[in-house]
This record gives sequence, C-alpha cells and structure tokens, in this order.
Amino acid sequence: MAIIEVTNLKKSFGSLEVLKNVSFEVKQSEVVAVIGPSGSGKSTMLRSLVHLEEVNGGSIKIGSDYVVKEGRYSGGHQIKEITARMGMVFQHFNLFPHLTVQGNLELAPKLVKGQHTADIRSKSTALLEKVGLTDKMDVYPQHLSGGQKQRVAIARALMMDPEILLFDEPTSALDPELTGEVLEVMKRLAEERMTMVIVTHEMGFAKEVADRVVFMADGQFIESGTPKELFGNPRHERTKAFLNRIL
Ligand code: ADP
Ligand code: MG
Repeated sequence: MAIIEVTNLKKSFGSLEVLKNVSFEVKQSEVVAVIGPSGSGKSTMLRSLVHLEEVNGGSIKIGSDYVVKEGRYSGGHQIKEITARMGMVFQHFNLFPHLTVQGNLELAPKLVKGQHTADIRSKSTALLEKVGLTDKMDVYPQHLSGGQKQRVAIARALMMDPEILLFDEPTSALDPELTGEVLEVMKRLAEERMTMVIVTHEMGFAKEVADRVVFMADGQFIESGTPKELFGNPRHERTKAFLNRIL
C-alpha cells in the first residue's frame, strides 16, 4: 500500500516552474533514494510534502489523508496532524544552538505534544544511545562535529514517532570521513523497516540501501527503478548523461 501518493504536483516560484506535474508513490517500509542535478526541484518536492512549501496544483496524500487535493489544501489543523507523521532531516542540521543535545530532542514533544520532561527523558536517552551519542547528552551543538550534529537531528526527528522520514542531502555538508557514521544510522533505520525518502549524492549508499532510486531533472520525475535497474540500465538519455557525469 502507498503511504505517500503524490499526483501531478506543480510548484512555481514566480515565473520559475520548479515542479512540473510530479507524480510518484512510496510504499510502506520502502526506502526511496532521489537523485538528480542541483536545481532540479528535489528539496522543493520534499519541503512540499511537509508543507514547508505550498504547491500550486496537484495532490499529496499520506496514507488515506490529503495534505492537498487537486490544489486545494486541507484545514490547518488537519495538515498539522498529517505532516506530523513525517520527520525531516536537513542538510544543515538545523539544531537549536541554545539547547543541549537532549534539550534539542525534547523540545518538540514538549511544545507540540505538551509532554513533560519526566515522561520523555527515558525516550530521549534511549534514542541518543541508538545514534551513539550517550556521552554528548549535555553538550551544546557548537561542540559537536557535523556527523554528530546530524545524528542528533535524526534522533530528534525520531522523538516524534514519525511513520516516514525525509532526508534532504543529510551528508552533503559533512567532511567525507564523517558521512559513514550518519549513513550507518540511516542504514539501521532502513533495516528496521522505516519508510524513508532520501535525497542524496551518495550513490554507493543509494545502491546499497535503497529499494528504489528515482531520477529527477528539471522539475520532473524522469524514471525510477531498483538500484540495479537505474544504475545498471537507465532507460532515459538524461539519466544516462547524469550518471555518466557523476559515476
Ligand atoms: P534541488 O534541491 O534539486 O537542488 P531546489 O528544489 O532547491 O532544487 O530548487 C529548484 C529550483 O527552485 C532552483 O532553481 C532554485 O533556485 C529555485 N528555488 C528554490 N527555492 C526557492 C525560493 N524560495 N524562491 C525562489 N526560487 C527558489
Ligand atoms: Mg536541494
């Protein structure tokens, strides 16, 4: 069953058409890697899913609920409920600098769900252990490496029990030697059958972890397939040209 269903999504910034009738589905527990040249609309597509961008047409359906249906948005309260089922991890971590690592994890549950520290402490502690940062619990983000910051961001997203995790180039801002520790955490989530959509330049990781790879160019989904299909036998000229350039 599709947990994300996007149909004919359109988005423009002024006269610039960034998403041109994008349609795709993600199934429950599927790991989908999205690749494509810079400026092709990958971030805009992810941001639209969680309502950080408003689209100009088309539909986004999460499970059986519409964020937007044929260009008409659901009510604000309903949108919040639907988008809360997705967690997003950004390229630049977006941690709160004035909060400790554990404070970063606990802020959204407190603000959004009205939970109290006593009720979520064991959960934030367990998630920090899961991403290997138990010893950094009381540290402020400025004292962390990029890889550690990104692992905090992932743990923070998990605090809200998302059904879906969206990643926008999670390792692009990292020194090469720090990407492994982040990809390792993501790999473990994939093994736990978390549904994930990952915009990435890490072709090796996409090959290893993704069930499906989608190639996006110029605001359109050009083609998708298993990593073996898409990397080994791309059908479209644009996919071939892109892969030739980067592989
Ligand atoms: P990608 O993530 O694939 O690199 P983006 O979705 O970030 O692509 O951007 C797609 C296009 O939309 C680019 O041309 C970018 O400059 C433009 N764009 C993105 N966000 C905005 C914005 N807020 N205002 C105007 N143009 C934007
Ligand atoms: Mg981007």
